[in-house]
Amino acid sequence: MRIDKLLANMGFGSRKEVKSLLKKGVVVSNGEVIKNSSMHVDPNRDIIKVFEQEIEYKTFIYLMMNKPPGYISATEDNRELTVIDLLEPEDTVFDPFPVGRLDKDTEGLLLITNDGKLAHQLLSPKKNVEKTYYATIEGRVTDDDVVRFNHGVVLDDGYQTKPAKLTILNQGTISEIEVSITEGKFHQVKRMFEAVSKKVIYLKRLSMGNLRLDPDLKVGEYRELTEDEYNYLK
Ligand code: URA
Repeated sequence: MRIDKLLANMGFGSRKEVKSLLKKGVVVSNGEVIKNSSMHVDPNRDIIKVFEQEIEYKTFIYLMMNKPPGYISATEDNRELTVIDLLEPEDTVFDPFPVGRLDKDTEGLLLITNDGKLAHQLLSPKKNVEKTYYATIEGRVTDDDVVRFNHGVVLDDGYQTKPAKLTILNQGTISEIEVSITEGKFHQVKRMFEAVSKKVIYLKRLSMGNLRLDPDLKVGEYRELTEDEYNYLK
């Protein structure tokens, strides 16, 4: 790969900016200064340093975020803060986007990547990827609700959902539950509870397929996926 393309891909600026960086003699491959922007390097084998810092070349980035409330799941917006606004500049150079949407007030597991193929696989309705949420609900969630979710409920627009697994963790005037769904309709969990005359007060996504939210990630924090976590997604 050409050195100017590699550095531009890694966020060191446009091809033109990279060219002037090279002219300054601050780019070194295997101990030799590179000034020629058309020179080829092997990002997997050559040790490339810019300003004496070794660079780690990668095409794709995979981030696990514990999404905080108050941020929308989009890449940019004129009025609202987006989950991309929470990323460090060294991560935004990869042009990542959130895989699917969590509502502005929903917290929890959000995968952020620039791997369109993986995102498509995870979101495809054909793949039935299971998503599990923890929620607090206004009202007493009953065994009857569990049965109704298990059959699928009819949403406000007449759509009959696929079966969903509802587990009651705590039954009271405010109930705590976990629910697993394999679809991703707009406001799906909230609308499923509306269908049984209850209201979601708090919603947090715990998992997506085999990928579970790292309990050590505080709300608003994120980190790269481990190799094992990446493999769970495939
Ligand atoms: N279901 C909802 O209602 N909201 C979310 O953010 C995710 C699933």
